[in-house]
Amino acid sequence: MSTSRPLLDVRDLRVDYDVAGAASWRRRTLTVVRGVSFTIDPGETYGLVGESGSGKSTTGRAILRLADVSGGSVRFDGEDLASMPRRTPLSYRRAVQAVYQDPAASLNPRHRVGRAVVETLARHGVRGREARDRAALWFERVGLTAEHMSRFPTQMSGGQLQRVAIARALVLEPRLVVCDEAVSALDLSTQSQIINLLRDLQEASGVSYLFITHDLGVVRHVSHRVGVLKKGELVEQGTTSEIFDAPRHEYTRKLLAACPAAHPAGRDERRAVRVARRAAARAA
Ligand code: ADP
Ligand code: MG
Repeated sequence: MSTSRPLLDVRDLRVDYDVAGAASWRRRTLTVVRGVSFTIDPGETYGLVGESGSGKSTTGRAILRLADVSGGSVRFDGEDLASMPRRTPLSYRRAVQAVYQDPAASLNPRHRVGRAVVETLARHGVRGREARDRAALWFERVGLTAEHMSRFPTQMSGGQLQRVAIARALVLEPRLVVCDEAVSALDLSTQSQIINLLRDLQEASGVSYLFITHDLGVVRHVSHRVGVLKKGELVEQGTTSEIFDAPRHEYTRKLLAACPAAHPAGRDERRAVRVARRAAARAA
């Protein structure tokens, strides 16, 4: 693994969407991400924050090749995504995974949850006994048991389902996981359990995360570095303490002021997170 080269290098990224104009037969171009540049190193968590509609998910989608790169470049491990075939190579799909806000939405309600992980392995050539064993191992790594594999989604809590989604994302041993609002729908104590789990898995495997969230409290807990998106533009980026302790941009200050848990004034909320985390650690 190279130490001098970032794992992900996003440079001057622009993403345009074609939308219906005022007159519906006329299409117009909407630029929702403009001139965004950042890097993520191996083993690093980069937090991307901003209000709803600021282009966070679109940035993640461009990296996942679910949205077209209209300008600039995205390089993964030195390779420009634009030079890849239109149909994303299996090797890239394996290396870059995603975890979304609603795990139930990506699980078939009629399938036992273990199957989602086993089928992910099958798509990448791991089948039969080996796939089942590896899936069981990952259920344990994410704090579930092999017994949970035979449950249906409705028989699990939101936090447990998110653990399944994390097992499915990590079972292929990716190098980057795009976590798009991955803990936003969870209650506070489940949120800190999942954050701790992601951190433990990162320490064990060296995986990198692009952690997308509107929640500054969350981003502060998970990120090594943070970028602040406003209307498609990255207005500020820096280490987590630079952004939270000495924000330079007016917009960052405004976001911080609106989020008590991420702000010095929000000591009670921060304490609540710590207490919840300790309780979770005791319960584990
Ligand atoms: P965020 O994740 O920060 O809330 P998004 O990246 O989802 O923001 O959206 C950024 C902007 O792009 C929003 O104005 C949204 O309405 C618009 N948008 C998102 N997806 C599409 C699409 N497929 N077609 C047209 N516009 C879109
Ligand atoms: Mg989003």
